[in-house]
Amino acid sequence: MVQAARTIRRAVVTGGAGFLGSHLCEHLLERGVEVVCLDNFLTGSAENVVHLMEHPGFRLVRCDVTDYVHVPGPVDLVLHFASPASPLDYLRMPIETLKVGSLGTLHTLGLAHEKGARYVLASTSEVYGDPLVHPQPEEYWGNVNPVGPRGVYDEAKRFSEAMTTAYRTSKGTDTGIVRIFNTYGPRMRADDGRAIPAFVGQALDGRPLTVAGDGSQTRSICYVDDTVRGILAMACSDQPGPVNIGNPDELSMLRLAEWVIELTGSSSGIEFIDLPVDDPKVRRPDTRRAQELLGWQPVVASEEGLRRTVSWFAERRRTVAAQAG
Ligand code: NAD
Repeated sequence: MVQAARTIRRAVVTGGAGFLGSHLCEHLLERGVEVVCLDNFLTGSAENVVHLMEHPGFRLVRCDVTDYVHVPGPVDLVLHFASPASPLDYLRMPIETLKVGSLGTLHTLGLAHEKGARYVLASTSEVYGDPLVHPQPEEYWGNVNPVGPRGVYDEAKRFSEAMTTAYRTSKGTDTGIVRIFNTYGPRMRADDGRAIPAFVGQALDGRPLTVAGDGSQTRSICYVDDTVRGILAMACSDQPGPVNIGNPDELSMLRLAEWVIELTGSSSGIEFIDLPVDDPKVRRPDTRRAQELLGWQPVVASEEGLRRTVSWFAERRRTVAAQAG
């Protein structure tokens, strides 16, 4: 049971069989909170939570939150994390992405309202689009192209922020919004198209690491344990947000690729490929609000987080290879 500004005994995690959701389920159970995980396995997998299945406080329910959301019994916290999140996934599934950001958000807000629960929306740094302000504070409204390919994700999240705010102001629902910046760590899908799993896979295979453009575009990467701590700090607070959750340690894509080569001990080289359309050039959170309101800041250095991630991917490959033959 989590006791801070509030007592949380039972939580619903949508998208709980995904990368971030599965870590959230795990951390909540460790803190003595019962967890109902709702997922339709669109981009996640039951494998991500298989280690939790024997836990008496854990329940996995196959459910598409765009259809309806019904959870019997009391609920103290709803974490809405269901949504394709990697560009490869949302470009492949644009309608599903818009539906889970709109209908999924509507249904999960309805659940939180009905149960009198705290609600936390997983928003994203993508609401800032290709930012004209750097680093990005929460007051910045963003620079998004609604009809560009990435618009399906960015606008879905902007809509879900507006819907969450409307439930708070018009119905008094206890809502909070976290804007999550690029997070990495164990249980990312090797083929999800995001830079870190792609680079690690290429380095472990001895193939060239494919860096978009000239590699000077930057991202700030946050290790999953830090992100989850920030999200749960928000869940335990009564802050409405939005609050940025990310690591201000900014690095270029070229530097990231070089680091992965070093950490894997690979002999891979680097190959430069075309930049995707509307790819943001810079991205770094202003985390002052998270520090002031939640007392949160990331503590895992990028080198350490990358080391842990590389060793998880390497171990997973050994397991898969052993199972195959
Ligand atoms: P993920 O793809 O690993 O997880 C998303 C989960 O949602 C999957 O298990 C998927 O099956 C499930 N899902 C999708 N549509 C659904 C639906 N209609 N009904 C039920 N379940 C559904 O992605 P992730 O990286 O874990 O991201 C989780 C959340 O955090 C997303 O909302 C994403 O926008 C947000 N976020 C993630 C990051 C990041 O760096 N990982 C950054 C910013 C925001």
